[in-house]
Amino acid sequence: MSDQHNALFESIDLGPVTVPNRVFQPPHGNAYGLGDQQTAFRAEKARGGFGLIVQEYSQIHESTDVTPVDSGYIHDDETIPPQREMVDAVHDHGGKLFVELWHGGATAGNYGSRRPPLSASQLPTGNYYTPKEMEHDDIQKIVEAFGNGADRARRADYDGIELHAAHGYLISQFLSPFYNDRDDEYGGSLENRMRFFREIIKSVRENVSDDMAVGARYTIDERVEGGLTADGDGLEIVRRIGDDLDFWDIDIGVKQSIDDMIAPSRRHSKNYQIDFMKAATDELDVPVGGTGRITDPDDAVALLEEGYVDMVGMARQSISDPHWPRKVREERVDEIRECIGCNVCVSQSRQGIPLTCTQNPTVGREAIWPPEEYETVDEPKGILVVGGGPAGMEFARVAGERGHLVHLNEKAETLGGRVNFEGTLPDLGEWNRVRDWRATELERLDDVAVHTGSKAEMSYDDVESYGAEVVVVATGASWSEKGETSGTHRPVPGWDRDHVLTPEDALEVDPSGRDVVIFDEEGYNVSAGVAQSLAADNDVTFVTPSASAFDQAVHTFERGTIFTALFESGVEFISHHALEEIRDDDVVAANVHSGEQTTLEADYVVFTTMRKSNDDLYRDLTTNLDSLRQSTEIEEVHAIGDCVSPRRIADAVYSGHDLGRQV
Ligand code: ADP
Ligand code: SF4
Repeated sequence: MSDQHNALFESIDLGPVTVPNRVFQPPHGNAYGLGDQQTAFRAEKARGGFGLIVQEYSQIHESTDVTPVDSGYIHDDETIPPQREMVDAVHDHGGKLFVELWHGGATAGNYGSRRPPLSASQLPTGNYYTPKEMEHDDIQKIVEAFGNGADRARRADYDGIELHAAHGYLISQFLSPFYNDRDDEYGGSLENRMRFFREIIKSVRENVSDDMAVGARYTIDERVEGGLTADGDGLEIVRRIGDDLDFWDIDIGVKQSIDDMIAPSRRHSKNYQIDFMKAATDELDVPVGGTGRITDPDDAVALLEEGYVDMVGMARQSISDPHWPRKVREERVDEIRECIGCNVCVSQSRQGIPLTCTQNPTVGREAIWPPEEYETVDEPKGILVVGGGPAGMEFARVAGERGHLVHLNEKAETLGGRVNFEGTLPDLGEWNRVRDWRATELERLDDVAVHTGSKAEMSYDDVESYGAEVVVVATGASWSEKGETSGTHRPVPGWDRDHVLTPEDALEVDPSGRDVVIFDEEGYNVSAGVAQSLAADNDVTFVTPSASAFDQAVHTFERGTIFTALFESGVEFISHHALEEIRDDDVVAANVHSGEQTTLEADYVVFTTMRKSNDDLYRDLTTNLDSLRQSTEIEEVHAIGDCVSPRRIADAVYSGHDLGRQV
């Protein structure tokens, strides 16, 4: 290893625990619950070199649950055996495993237990209910429950505890004047608001062993009006608690400001939280860790060397590439699969769907698809891949790793497929990493040849005469020109007029100073990006059958940022409406509930309602597959990615990887 990244690989003491390096995975949910998958997921990060892993928020008492999500649990003794197995698995790879003790307070779902959510005060949470204001008995019970959780953590052999004093969950509901309007000894003054946290720290300390560390994840700035701030009480709490804790894991944001907490790349640039970490680091004698879309090894080193932080935390980057530390250490930095900040991971796990990732299709499959390991084939096959989008690139990469002889033919001048368009939309530049990482990996593989440009466009005859044994069709999908929606399944009358455009055409035409109607049911990044691009020079009206807009961007925490940009650009929104007809100079839209019609001026209409698979080649090849097999070397024909079903980039990558592992 060169000296350049040495700082990342120095050990550090968190109280009595020596962590082997400075790269840690802060706690993050995955909706895997406890058991083999959770164990495999955390152990993979230790195998990839993360020195410290913190198991996700684990409920310490049955008065809180995160249903419908399957999270961590430590509220009874039955939860101990699977956690001990996880600790052992992480230790086998030389890592340390802490557990995050959590009570959700007002923010817990409690849909499973049906117990009333508890909080410091009876203030609304945005969950369609108000919680119970905790009585003194409740406070006593929960303080004890944190101690009991620590006792179970000790018996599960965890190396340490991270208290969840962040993100607007119960401890931070007491700390913060935004959530706490009590007038007893647990509310009002800062010291009163800190009382619950201090009692919990004491209760936990009494129950851990001398060789366990106790720290906290802490929101230093809540990013809400009336909440804790890094130049006010947020920092004062750090000063006053100080080295009562062995380490601090500093974060920002609460539920009401979640797009600052788990910021997508369209909202914040890389390393966006570092000044908040520094505020704490400057005050504390004990180590401070922090996160915030840190993905680049040079940046990580600079954060350590310039005193921003003592440990560099990576949640999403550890999902996108659990082997980040190992690759840095082995000077394979260009092999790091950098996170694109799309938040597909968190959007799923927050809805109770097991975590997946756009960049890393092996997430959630670690036991069957060990990341970075490929079963090589005894008899390599000659494989032709048609189409070099995310699906085709990922397939070619995996098949190449396994030793097959692969030709990847892409008719465009560059690889990338849909990413080449989506990555040019405002604030989505980091999405190009999906293409760039795979392109670099393909160059590394001797048995993969990539051909691009018009000569690489494959017709049926080209495929027939190519000489391949396996043909993989990854020709993607195209935006429908007809405007069908889930509510109509029919073309919009007038769809064939010249002024009706696809998203790609719309950006080519860039119709300055005109009235543009976008009719959308995608509810995601393409419609948002096209609207934002066109709104700079045009009067844009956004029509959608949805009750709001950008429904796919809700759980990726992008919707607020998208709305801000579009409202600032003067975009008008007409929700609950579908287009009934496109005429020469206007369109007729109707309310999908009342049927009432509205006429809107429109020089151009752009459809972002649905995509359709480009599957003609696949259908032609498989119509008479038996005779094709007899007359050529072709044995198998497959379709992958959007060519089968147009979905998210994550699904296309997964589809390519899946076939690559099997072929
Ligand atoms: P996916 O997300 O499934 O990978 P994309 O639409 O991103 O789908 O990529 C499909 C790629 O296939 C595009 O880059 C397109 O140019 C390419 N392609 C489509 N048809 C052909 C063809 N007949 N020959 C070569 N490349 C093709
Ligand atoms: Fe990063 Fe997106 Fe993967 Fe999440 S899903 S880890 S944001 S690439």
